[in-house]
Amino acid sequence: MRKLLVANRSEIAIRVFRAATELGLSTVAVFTHEDRFSLHRFKADEAYLIGPPEGGMPVKGYLDIPAIIAVAKEHQVDAIHPGYGFLSENAELSRQCKEAGIVFVGPTAELLETFGDKTAAKRVARKAKVPTVPGTDGALSDPAKVKAAAAEVGYPVILKASFGGGGRGMRVVLNESEILGKLEEASREAGAAFGRGEVFIERYVRKAKHIEVQILGDTHGNIVHLWERDCSVQRRHQKVVEIAPSIDLPQQLRVDICEAAKRLCATAGYINAGTVEFLVDVERNEFFFIEVNPRIQVEHTVTEVVTGIDLVKSQIRVAQGHKLHEAPLSIPPQEKIETRGYAVQCRITTEDPENSFIPDYGRISTYRSPGGFAVRLDGGNGFGGSVITPYFDSLLVKVITSGTTFLESIDRMDRALREFRIRGVKTNIPFLENLINHPAFRNGEATTTFIDQNPSLFQ
Ligand code: ADP
Repeated sequence: MRKLLVANRSEIAIRVFRAATELGLSTVAVFTHEDRFSLHRFKADEAYLIGPPEGGMPVKGYLDIPAIIAVAKEHQVDAIHPGYGFLSENAELSRQCKEAGIVFVGPTAELLETFGDKTAAKRVARKAKVPTVPGTDGALSDPAKVKAAAAEVGYPVILKASFGGGGRGMRVVLNESEILGKLEEASREAGAAFGRGEVFIERYVRKAKHIEVQILGDTHGNIVHLWERDCSVQRRHQKVVEIAPSIDLPQQLRVDICEAAKRLCATAGYINAGTVEFLVDVERNEFFFIEVNPRIQVEHTVTEVVTGIDLVKSQIRVAQGHKLHEAPLSIPPQEKIETRGYAVQCRITTEDPENSFIPDYGRISTYRSPGGFAVRLDGGNGFGGSVITPYFDSLLVKVITSGTTFLESIDRMDRALREFRIRGVKTNIPFLENLINHPAFRNGEATTTFIDQNPSLFQ
């Protein structure tokens, strides 16, 4: 492997280029016309336009498998990393890479297909004797059957898109009078976003923490977990702040969850980096599997900070065929993998917290970022003179701070957030400051409904 292309943009493209460069690989970026000034283009050794030169397909270009494969072939690319979002969970890209003799840095097409369907993933979990949230096992349509199924699960229930992600196609249903209307809404939203409208029912866990486990598997059947992250702080089912390791989980529960995640992935023959997500019912200290994300995640950084293991470099090494526990990967045996201290990540977005988080656009006139001890910044287009366009995700930069205790990492985050000076576009920084200073958050009590239940955070 000599040359690696990232089929993605901005923050995660740059993150992968950094890993590839450290491994001595040369890097290739792709960009659409609307992204011609995007920083990722300039951070790679080579960069190629995809999509029409006159523009008009800002996002679609990044989803155009034949165009990306064509660039790769024309420029002697050996490997493609898909990042997160876009094509990262697309089995077709994995398959077409294989056919073209290009290494796909991620799981096989078969694994992507299994875990792309949440109900299929739940079947794998049950096979691995991992607890799942009680619910239905497949697509729903007949109204009488939907009502009967929801009644059997017991209200409140949550409707979820089988092929969904990013919190879309999900609806909480409090009682039977709402269910058919919400089913129609969820199914329509899922159909528009994912091209498939299938929806299933789960029991709604009222007081839950979102705990997820980082997994790494090689192509020789070795698999490890790299402990867990707490991503309970969410807005509209999307993560806002992520922490590693979790705070306040009984140690035995923590170990059981991580072992369950590993067992599930071992059962599936999992390869490369992946995340197994769970909900922990904090009133009963019970955990339930919800889904697997078969790709690198936005919040992989906090695990890297507390374990010292570079996950993106590991992904590339695994894709090269190296073994987990041998050089150059040299991951310690499971019982020796430990976490040290705490790390927290805030996602800084160009959204206006005082105006329902609507995305803001325009030229950044001033950009000064924090620095200093134990502050990591993984950014994309945050710099003075950068133009934020309306076409893409609003993530500007991820700030990761660490400390020997959870509170030290939070105090450091507070200081880092206060050091930012970003002018020209609105950001969610004032909201994040309110959030990390809230007593419930600092006490480790935040559950998935924390933001919704605290309107004071928006002021
Ligand atoms: P997505 O793939 O869209 O991210 P997930 O299944 O990972 O969807 O769920 C995202 C979030 O939605 C969870 O972290 C949690 O906050 C909420 N959620 C999902 N399922 C349930 C459930 N059964 N009960 C309560 N909340 C849930």
